[in-house]
Amino acid sequence: VIPGRDDVGLRSETVRRANLSAIVRELHLRGPLSRSDLVAHTGLTRSAIRALIGELAAGGLISEEAPERLGTPGRPSPVVRPNAEAAVALGLELTVDSIAAALVGFGGAVLESRRIDRPRGHKAVDDVVADLVRLVDGLSEPVDRAIGIGVAVAGVVRRSDGFLSTAPNLGWRDVPLGDRLVAAFGRSVPISVANEADLGALAEHRRGAAVDADDVLFISGEVGVGGGLIVDGRPLTGFAGYGGEVGHMPVNADGRLCACGSTGCWETEVGEDALLRRAGRPVDGGREAVDAVLAAAAAGDPEATAAVGEVGRWLGIGLAGLVNVLDPRLVVMGGHFARLFPLVREPLERELDRRALSAPRSVVRVVPSALGVDAPMCGAAELALEPLLADPASWLAAQAAPVHARLASA
Ligand SMILES: [Zn+2]
Repeated sequence: VIPGRDDVGLRSETVRRANLSAIVRELHLRGPLSRSDLVAHTGLTRSAIRALIGELAAGGLISEEAPERLGTPGRPSPVVRPNAEAAVALGLELTVDSIAAALVGFGGAVLESRRIDRPRGHKAVDDVVADLVRLVDGLSEPVDRAIGIGVAVAGVVRRSDGFLSTAPNLGWRDVPLGDRLVAAFGRSVPISVANEADLGALAEHRRGAAVDADDVLFISGEVGVGGGLIVDGRPLTGFAGYGGEVGHMPVNADGRLCACGSTGCWETEVGEDALLRRAGRPVDGGREAVDAVLAAAAAGDPEATAAVGEVGRWLGIGLAGLVNVLDPRLVVMGGHFARLFPLVREPLERELDRRALSAPRSVVRVVPSALGVDAPMCGAAELALEPLLADPASWLAAQAAPVHARLASA
């Protein structure tokens, strides 16, 4: 088949879209870059970069600044800067003991964020959704300014429509959470829902402890224990998006009853309740109670030290299995595991040495999260920004379209 003129036009438009996406993604992930840096990172020609940067600047997504003269020879290259205010996404997080919201701009700047601690316990879905709406209403920007909403939830969730199969520690099962959120926030803004540990992994990979690693296991310790996997630079989520639930990996045949209905899950040995129970404290004390145990262990209190050590030992046992299966470069300890890590490092590494195969053991490093408790919320905002990164040409077209056309299509 000889391509006709229309095919050639279609192909060049496809190339233009892909090149715009490559530039926008580089600027989002790396921050301000000179035109020469963009040439180096994207492999595009100088003239292609100039034309595409012109389009993005006209649409307001980026601005170009005259370069600083640093006494180097040659003509200095203008610096291209992402405009955070031009495209803003809303990241939401819904966990067992807090809800949080952040406005994140193109380029990754967190423009505003809020977190509210809430008492633990099972709550009606509608109440939690209403609380999220109130939290968002308290932000300085109206929600319809956002190009999208990403939601991180501590549960097993289907990516395609945000259907939540189970959130054991929230007491939810078979909840059409995506639909509920669309009803609450309105249909004008696209909403994506994903598992909080998957999004924590995404955020750590893009902006945190795992920027330089493409095989990453992110473990999130809260009341529940979640896992987010990145394999060869891509999320590993399974067939329907339910994968990565390392907290419900059976590790103890004689173990305790888990919130999921099974017994002896990893979560029952390393989760928040396990730490508090072993330290002889009430299990519903939330973050403050966890911090009190950590402080007591750091001060040498024997009961707290033993509790922390036992959690570290079980962390190492579970991780040894995961390291053998996945061969990650990096294990990132998120949620309260980030604060726990310095105290459990020794027993954890000892179990890894004892139980993991020597080859994958020798390449893996275990590190605390760089983004802390906000990692899943930041990942949720990244999820909401993804359509812009994947196809900035559509965003540009929407900016150029007359307002009435945009309203009609909403
Ligand atoms: Zn379980």
